[in-house]
Amino acid sequence: MAARIIDGKALAAQVKARVRAGVEECVRQGVQPCLAVLLVGDDPASEVYVRGKAKDCEECGIRSLVERLPADTTQAELLARLAQLAADDSVHGILVQLPLPAQIDERAVIEAIPPQKDVDGFTPVNVGRMMIGEKCFLPCTPAGCLEMLNAAGVDPAGKRAVVIGRSNIVGKPAAMLLLARNATVTICHSRTKDLVSICAGADILVAAVGRPKFVTGDMIKPGAAVIDVGINRDENGKLCGDVDFAAAAEKAGCITPVPGGVGLMTRAMLMVNTLQAARNTL
Ligand code: NAD
Repeated sequence: MAARIIDGKALAAQVKARVRAGVEECVRQGVQPCLAVLLVGDDPASEVYVRGKAKDCEECGIRSLVERLPADTTQAELLARLAQLAADDSVHGILVQLPLPAQIDERAVIEAIPPQKDVDGFTPVNVGRMMIGEKCFLPCTPAGCLEMLNAAGVDPAGKRAVVIGRSNIVGKPAAMLLLARNATVTICHSRTKDLVSICAGADILVAAVGRPKFVTGDMIKPGAAVIDVGINRDENGKLCGDVDFAAAAEKAGCITPVPGGVGLMTRAMLMVNTLQAARNTL
């Protein structure tokens, strides 16, 4: 059996087209949505992500402010700039590209973003609201994963969902969102025993490990929905996910590719959140 491919590119294009229409409506009502992105230092991967975000904004009609700060920026300087953006009514979303240089405390910076402008969904207020099912900004990657399941016609209700990875930005919130959709959720991590058999029982498997081809064919239940969050390089330097795609596609019912999967949906969900942040000010 060959799995259906959940096409992140096509899905992200649909989402961005909807955002664009929403942005036009927002502008008609007098508000130009705007996203500020702060990049500290010159990490090449971060530079690529930031450029991608600016391009998405342009496609959606969102104004983007990209600010590059030197690698030796102090925490006080970054917090001062954040305070200005927080007070600026023309800026609806604020995103600080992670990781930050070692001299800066990531948590302190995240907590300086007002929850109503926290379009990454990383502040404690948004994380807490997500936990209790209140209206909030959902973190973009897990929100994108859920959109992909939805697009594939997979309703998590009553299904066994296994999430590999427990990071604050992917694993934990992905598990929470699946729980909110009534899945029975197991979170696996670096100390999990019997990982293979747990995964092999999953109707929905989300891999957010950060290791190339970590999920092998024997970890896939026939017909399962497989969401591959990983972005890695294989031994030949080629982009690949956490899932051995060829082996998994033999058994899965549907699967997301890398590239062309969750990464693109993550970007699209940031646009959704930015539009929402602007709409909330109308
Ligand atoms: P992380 O390093 O913070 O977390 C990795 C998790 O994997 C940890 O919770 C750890 O417990 C678990 N883990 C490590 N080794 C394991 C093992 N042997 N068995 C079981 N679990 C194990 O990473 P992250 O930030 O959550 O990112 C995970 C992957 O997703 C990375 O490849 C990252 O590049 C990618 N990512 C992609 C997107 C996207 O938009 N597609 C967004 C964020 C992260």
